[in-house]
Amino acid sequence: MNLKGKLVGTSDVVTVQTEGENIAGIHCGVSTDAIGGDDVWIAPAIFDVQVNGIGGINYKAKNLTVEKIAETTAWMHKTGTGLWCPTVTTSSAEDAIQGLTLLAKACEESEIARASFVGFHVEGPYIASEDGPRGAHPLAHVRDPDWDEFQRYQEAAGGRIAIFTLAPERKGALAFIEKVAATGVIVSIGHSGASPERIRDAVAAGAKMSTHLGNGAHAELPRHPNYIWEQLAADALWAGIIPDGFHLPPSVLKSFYRAKGKERICLVSDVASIAGLPPGIYGSESGLGESELHANGKISLAGTPYLAGAGLLLDSGIPNAVRYTDASLSDAIDMASINPARLLGIDNRVGSVAVGKEASLSLFRWKDGQEKLDIVATVVRGQVVYRA
Ligand SMILES: [Zn+2]
Repeated sequence: MNLKGKLVGTSDVVTVQTEGENIAGIHCGVSTDAIGGDDVWIAPAIFDVQVNGIGGINYKAKNLTVEKIAETTAWMHKTGTGLWCPTVTTSSAEDAIQGLTLLAKACEESEIARASFVGFHVEGPYIASEDGPRGAHPLAHVRDPDWDEFQRYQEAAGGRIAIFTLAPERKGALAFIEKVAATGVIVSIGHSGASPERIRDAVAAGAKMSTHLGNGAHAELPRHPNYIWEQLAADALWAGIIPDGFHLPPSVLKSFYRAKGKERICLVSDVASIAGLPPGIYGSESGLGESELHANGKISLAGTPYLAGAGLLLDSGIPNAVRYTDASLSDAIDMASINPARLLGIDNRVGSVAVGKEASLSLFRWKDGQEKLDIVATVVRGQVVYRA
């Protein structure tokens, strides 16, 4: 298969030739039978490490099925996202295990799911109980770290849990972080009200990431010291940040970008299951209470100022990162492709457009100032999974 366009960060039109699952060649000559065009950008597939569901399907819902999981792949591919970490948030052990079991089954049964789900993200339940840091997670299921329970989760997931978000101030968390990090899972600090000292201890114990830095936090904090500055300053921590324009005001996004640097940021959508549906109030299928999806893509816990996940995906988040910071398109794409690949240690096969790498690519049109990428095609492991 031939794909035609400009590689992001360059100005010449090329043909990217794929063979089987991989990129076989990148040529200056332009092929006539190619997907794409002279005004199309070719980028590594958009890679999002925090996706709770989409199109009304939540990865931890009681009525989840393998068929519904398969439907989410079509929704995601349409937005140019080719690789992501399905995320299972705080719930009872029984519900979480059911969700992880079904996601694992989807990977076993479907080649597309297996190629797109590059690891699972478990967010909670070992997070802060306090209002604010807990965000929209249900208090009834928040609890202290439990190594045996984690092992049951990982077993249900078939070893696919790649990121585990927790609050290091929970009882027993530091020893738990050491054990989980030793298994190769990325421990991420999130929904935490930890003291700066405790953040440092968590990093020393092996935490490698901050989950949606600046969100899942108190509405008011001591100006300094506090856990946001501490995580911003910790070079060992990658930062997941939500560039939807609602979770972080543009000035905060810009400051985080400048402080953390483009090398250590992963843009994440944190997209909620009702994303993609028409605006309105939706029931508590997610266990988070009723959610209101606003016309501009913002999602709040109905009747509260709290955000309940995001309604916009990275096809909006990438242009936002360019609009709100001094990142170039190429920088923003890196933060949503090679950076998450490096974080998960799979940059040898995904995250860049190069000969020998997996042919997992996003093709889109975009001009400076445009608020959304205009997706032309999404390719996952050599298969066109979406075409406009
Ligand atoms: Zn969260």
